[in-house]
Amino acid sequence: MDIITRAQWGAGPKRGSDVSSKLPWGEVVIHTEAGPQRSPASLGTEMGWIRAIEAFHVGPERGWDGIAYSFLIAPSGRVFEGRGWGRSGAHTEGRNSTAAGFCFLGHGDKWPATDAQWSSTRGLIGEGIRLGKLQRRPKISGHKDYSQKGKTCPGTLIYPLLQAKLAGIDGPTGPVAPTGPSIGDDDMSQAQYDELHRLILETRGEAAAARGEAAAAGLRAAHCEQLLAEVQAQGKQYYGSLRGWAVAIANKLGVDRADAVANDPTSKP
Ligand SMILES: [Zn+2]
Repeated sequence: MDIITRAQWGAGPKRGSDVSSKLPWGEVVIHTEAGPQRSPASLGTEMGWIRAIEAFHVGPERGWDGIAYSFLIAPSGRVFEGRGWGRSGAHTEGRNSTAAGFCFLGHGDKWPATDAQWSSTRGLIGEGIRLGKLQRRPKISGHKDYSQKGKTCPGTLIYPLLQAKLAGIDGPTGPVAPTGPSIGDDDMSQAQYDELHRLILETRGEAAAARGEAAAAGLRAAHCEQLLAEVQAQGKQYYGSLRGWAVAIANKLGVDRADAVANDPTSKP
């Protein structure tokens, strides 16, 4: 699955010592950011959120060695590397070296997690098992299970769903799209095919619009280049996961196969 690495989102240098004992971890502890309302946003915007969380965690108020969590999951479904697999976190007293800590961006007492967040988290757990970083069927907990301070984390709208959504995963869960419907395997419904087809067309439309703007407004070329780069980055994510599905969709819907795959917005105009 696609994970936005520390280098990609611009993490600061690692501090402190790496502690990587007790892999594979047998547990995943889920957290909420307890931040403002988050909606699916551009990659650049979301990377800014992650950098801000890091700045808070390493700043004077917390003074930790880095961003507290192992991974962070945005409402768009994008997954951001925090400390990553095998490095002790600063997320859960008593579980920092024996469990992965996943943070759902947003605020779980105020807004529910998105389908994309749940889907990507399942994908991330599957990926951890595939890599040997997590035990199969890892125990799923919420931060409140270990808090002596009356915390509600990961929040009253997320905690009650943890077991139903995340327990019992015993291997890779298949490709996970950054946004849109979850993709399991070959038995996609017609509605899912249609939704994926729509997403691909939408991405193509955004890329075309950005190119048009760039061509029409020479004076604002730098701004347009930025827009184009953003759309291309999003397109790359879609197509990284969905190129194979595009062919399947084209076959299923009778769309010209070449047309469905040739207009990759990541390619040059
Ligand atoms: Zn927490």
